[in-house]
Amino acid sequence: MAQWEDNVRHVTPYTPGEQPRIPDIIKLNTNENPYPPSPAVAENLRAMDIDALRLYPDPAAGELTEAVAAHFGVEKDRVFVGVGSDDCLAMSFLAFFNSGRPVLFADITYSFYDVWAGLFGIPFETVPLADDFTLRPEDYFRENGGIIIASPNAPTGLLPGTDAIRQILEHNPGVVVIVDEAYIDFGGESVAGLTEEYENLLVVQTFSKSRSLAGMRIGCAVGSRKLIKYLSDVKYSFNSYTMNLPSICAGAAAIADEAYFEETRKKIIATRERSKQELRALGFTFPDSQANFIFASHPEVPARELFAALRQAGIIVRYFDKPRIDNYLRITVGTDAQMDALIAFLRKFLAERKEKKL
Ligand SMILES: *Cc1c(COP(=O)(O)O)cnc(C)c1O
Repeated sequence: MAQWEDNVRHVTPYTPGEQPRIPDIIKLNTNENPYPPSPAVAENLRAMDIDALRLYPDPAAGELTEAVAAHFGVEKDRVFVGVGSDDCLAMSFLAFFNSGRPVLFADITYSFYDVWAGLFGIPFETVPLADDFTLRPEDYFRENGGIIIASPNAPTGLLPGTDAIRQILEHNPGVVVIVDEAYIDFGGESVAGLTEEYENLLVVQTFSKSRSLAGMRIGCAVGSRKLIKYLSDVKYSFNSYTMNLPSICAGAAAIADEAYFEETRKKIIATRERSKQELRALGFTFPDSQANFIFASHPEVPARELFAALRQAGIIVRYFDKPRIDNYLRITVGTDAQMDALIAFLRKFLAERKEKKL
């Protein structure tokens, strides 16, 4: 290594799911929404003043922040917006986890949490989920430097539930508790309302999944006035203009269109429930996902083999080569037609494999 490399910040980055540019691929690997964004997004973008791109955008992203605040029924000084929820979460780690004590999160959860901890030098301890991947609130009743919980959890899809989160809050008034609700719109009830009661609770959501805007990079957080002020101070010390004008216009339009949102999320939930039945009929087992993906395992066929066979057939799902979950596939819920193609392939593959083994 060259001498200058001694002083480089060495980090192990997060590995995002692949974004192959192969035509006709069935892409079920990164939990994107199979439906387009609300038509109001296109309208707002078309109406956007292109000349205004000369200027720096509103550093407070007022139009978007107000639309998010209206959606949650809170004042706008209780809302933070960022470049995807990843940005909201990264800024939160930087702002709130400075005690030197370990931050707690599940052993199986969003794999960006340990990456941010590593980047910022924040100590952390992972808390094992139960054998059935459920979260035990009492595991979080101990000294720590902060807590982050994904609800529903990724990649299991399981919802810890409001009661479990409330118990964790009751036992942890001295630290910031972050609830990452990236998938909450697919089956859970947001705990955003609890921010009225708990000053130390930050609830983070994203426009990438339930609002079909992964390409725009928009996330938001709701918390107490104090918490949002501290978070904003950190953001303004890092980059004042995180939200660009097109994102502000697109995001404000998307969150205001409740009717379209209801329609698409209900379609995805219906497709998920139907897909669960079909997968179960093929012998798969999985936790009862409340998200837009199913975390499935087959008792006879290794997940790695299924992953490769699906890929060969042009169907891309996510496989994590990690302890406890290396025999699972995380399958994003796509359109009905995409799920039909997935099920048809699996049915044929499993039947042919059985033939060969006989
Ligand atoms: C997708 C995801 C995010 C990040 O989403 P953004 O696209 O950055 O808004 C955050 N947390 C979890 C658990 C996710 O799955």
